[in-house]
Parts: sequence; structure tokens; C-alpha cells
Amino acid sequence: THNLDGVGWNPFKAPGLDGWTRDTWAKRKVALISGITGQDGSYLTELLLDKGYTVHGIIRRSSSFNTSRLHHLYQDSHQSACPGRMILHYGDLTDSTNLVYIISQVQPSEIYNLGAQSHVKVSFEMAEYTGDVDGLGTLRLLDAIRTCGLEKLVRFYQASTSELYGKVQTPIQNEQTPFYPRSPYGVAKLYAYWMVVNYRESYGMFACNGILFNHESPRRGRTFVTRKITRAVAEISLGKQECMYMGNLDAKRDWGHGTFISLLLYTIFLDVSVLLDLFVLSLISLPLILSRLAKFLCVFLNSLPGVLVKLTMSVPLARDYVEGMWRVLQYRDPQDFVLASGETHSVREFIEKSFAIVGISLRWLGKGVEEIGVDIKSGHVVVRVDQKYFRPAEVEILHGDCSKAETILGWKRTVTFDDLIREMVEADVASAKYLVEDHN
Ligand code: NDP
Ligand code: GDP
Repeated sequence: THNLDGVGWNPFKAPGLDGWTRDTWAKRKVALISGITGQDGSYLTELLLDKGYTVHGIIRRSSSFNTSRLHHLYQDSHQSACPGRMILHYGDLTDSTNLVYIISQVQPSEIYNLGAQSHVKVSFEMAEYTGDVDGLGTLRLLDAIRTCGLEKLVRFYQASTSELYGKVQTPIQNEQTPFYPRSPYGVAKLYAYWMVVNYRESYGMFACNGILFNHESPRRGRTFVTRKITRAVAEISLGKQECMYMGNLDAKRDWGHGTFISLLLYTIFLDVSVLLDLFVLSLISLPLILSRLAKFLCVFLNSLPGVLVKLTMSVPLARDYVEGMWRVLQYRDPQDFVLASGETHSVREFIEKSFAIVGISLRWLGKGVEEIGVDIKSGHVVVRVDQKYFRPAEVEILHGDCSKAETILGWKRTVTFDDLIREMVEADVASAKYLVEDHN
């Protein structure tokens, strides 16, 4: 008999779930990702496919394509002999019935809740919607897991955020730092954070918060500050745009990379040119050379048959923040973890370093909203401040301490601040050039 007024109410409990333990269930390696079309969702999908998972993703119906970050992973079942291991389902975090249906069909072993209205500035304009998706959406997913009778089997990852710290109370933030969100986005994510903790404590769910500090990449949404800067720098360097308009130049963030750096040569052979290449790289960046060497090892082993090929699949390549998400769910018990780079830099510094990559040095003149950034060589104003990009309440500085994740999960970011900027600027310059050629 069902107890209709409390814990254990479970009308949809599917048959066939008995006899599983959380560990045996995990071996099925079936992941469900909300927000699969986003920056992190697409990198996480790549990571999980590499690890042998079947990956199901929830996508929103849109009048235009919103799956561009996934195109390279999609296998059309009509054109491929082996069916793809990435399967997409229409859904929305505002639609409980749909979430219950998807989870009951997919029966995932791991769920990554990455779906969100993720833009802080937009959350001031769409506060209620942001609360609905980012806050209540998380509750809907957690309840859908219970409704499907999977609460003792599924591992659940919640994309929590350093925005929870908001008006920071300490020079460096970790799992013990009190929260003080400064935006509707931060407040919605705070609700989600505590729901995860509450469902873990109330129902024994394996539910974890990854409190991630900002992480960027060439796949970052175009209205986040880093990508806005690198795209504008690319356009300005090619003479397609004159100036970029920015908000608070003095805000500081702890910026990391969404995934491991991907500037890798897949077809390298150990000859003189490669050794020279590696030598030059070693002068520039140690993480880059290590990641190249690791990838080279993989490519080499993959070219050999049999058991060696399988071995390469378990080579623990660092994939920074999405790798960290996966590690959070593989730990023996559910806990919350901070993932951060451990460095903090200002928006101004990000702009200067981005311009430096295309050979432009800046001088700053004026103050406040009158401040401008001038290209020293040409004398052109390439940066201006526009009040409209300021937020009603600002998070002035974020600086994370991820020593818990380092100690317990063995996680550490591998991509440096300078390498991150270089990769983003170079990717945006390449795509801006391509568009110029295409247009001509
Ligand atoms: P993106 O903005 O790139 O992706 C957000 C994803 O959520 C998209 O796939 C989007 O779909 C989807 N989504 C939006 N609304 C809904 C909805 N109502 N129902 C279902 N899905 C929805 O974010 P990131 O990949 O950068 O971040 C992933 C998660 O991590 C987010 O929750 C974000 O808040 C959080 N986070 C991100 C940090 C960062 O620095 N990147 C730092 C800390 C936390 P669509 O493509 O259709 O818009
Ligand atoms: P957030 O940390 O999640 O808010 O990520 P963003 O990339 O949107 O913003 C990072 C910081 O950059 C915030 O403190 C913003 O106020 C600041 N910033 C300054 N100018 C801009 C701008 O033009 N766009 C955005 N998005 N942020 C800006």
C-alpha cells in the first residue's frame, strides 16, 4: 500500500528496479543532461561519450536551431550503421510532466542539471522566469527522480555557482563561506542549492552541488563578458568593428576553462619538427605541452589494436571543469565541492591581454563611465564604457579556493588564464576571418 501523505509516495514506481544497488546501477553508464546545448553540456557530452556512457540530453523546442554546439556529436540513425550514443529529447525545466516522462524512459544512472537561464544581467529583467527555471526547475527534477522511484539509485549533479557568494565576506571562498547572492540568478541558484542539500538529507539521495566559479571557452555564450571581449577584439583587429562598449571594468572573477585545451595536433609523428614544436611550446606553457603529450599518447595507443585501445580510454586526461563535475558524482558519498582556478583577474586585465594577442597595446584614459581604452599605436578609441551594461547590484570580486576538490577528488584546473584568453581570441579571429571570406 502507498503512503499517500509522506515520504515513499511513489505511484509510478517502475517494475524491475528491485535488486539494484547504487553501485550496480552506476555501471549502466546512462547519463541524462539538462542544458546539453549549452557550453558545459556540450563539453560534458564529449567527456561522457569518451568514457563509454550513453548520453541523453534535454533540449528546448526553438524556432531556430539551438544545437550548434552538438552538431559534431550527432549521428543520424538513417546514415550511420551504429546508432549514436547521444540521444536528444524535447523538454523543459518548467514542465514537470515532461521531466517525469523523460526520466522514466531513460532511467539514467547519473543526472547533470546544467539547464538554466544562466545570465546574471538578464535575471534582473526576467527575475520570475529565472526563479522558475533555475530554482523550481531543480526541485522539479529532484521530485521527478523520486516519482520514478529512482531516488536510491540515481546520482544527481547540480550546477551551483560562485554567484551564491555574491557580496563576498571573505578574501577567498570555499565550501564553508556564507552565501549572500546579489541577483535573481544567485537567489534562484541558492534555492536550488539548498533543495539539493535537503533532498540528500531527507531522502538519502546521492545529490551534490558543484559550486563552480566562472569558466569560459570558445563555446561560451556571446553575451558573457569574456566571449563578448574576445569576439570584439577579433572584429576590431580585422577592421570590422571600431570599438567595444563595456560595463564595470573593475569587476574581478576567478576564470577557468570549461574543458581541456583543444589546440592539439592529431597527426603528429615523433620527428624533428615535433620535438622542435614541443620545445617551443614548453617555453610558452607547461600545461599545454603536457596536454599535447597526453593526447599524443592516446592517438598513438589508439592506432594499436585490441586491449591497448581500451586502455587509452581510461587515460585520465584533464578536462577541467566538466571533468570535475563527473568526479563529483564518482566520489564514494555525496558532497558539495568548489571548483575554481584559485586566481582572480579584472575585466580590464582580460581586455588588455586579449588585445595584446592581436598586437594591440592599450592606454586607459578618463575615469568611471568616461573611461576609454586607446590603441597606443593608432590612437583609435577601442574601448568605451556604457552604463547600460552595469548591474543593479554587482558582485565585485570572486576568488575560489578548491583545496577540498584537489585533496578529495584529485581535481585541478590545467588551463592557465593566459592560455584560456589565447585560445578564445584565436578561435574568434579564425571564425571572424572565415566569415569575411564567406561574405566575399
Ligand atoms: P549556458 O547558458 O551555455 O547553457 C544553459 C543551458 O540551459 C542551455 O542548454 C539552455 O538551452 C538550457 N536551458 C535554458 N533554459 C532552460 C529551460 N527552461 N529548460 C531546459 N533547459 C534550459 O550555460 P553554461 O553551459 O555556461 O552553464 C551550465 C550551468 O552551469 C548553468 O546552470 C549555469 O548557471 C551554471 N554555471 C555556469 C558557470 C559558468 O561560468 N559557465 C559558473 C557556475 C555555474 P538553450 O540552448 O535552448 O538556451
Ligand atoms: P557573471 O560573473 O556570471 O555575471 O558573468 P559575466 O561574464 O556576465 O560578467 C562577469 C563580470 O563582468 C560582471 O561583474 C560584469 O558586471 C562584468 N562586465 C563588465 N562589462 C560587461 C559586459 O559588457 N557584459 C557582461 N556580461 N559583463 C560585463
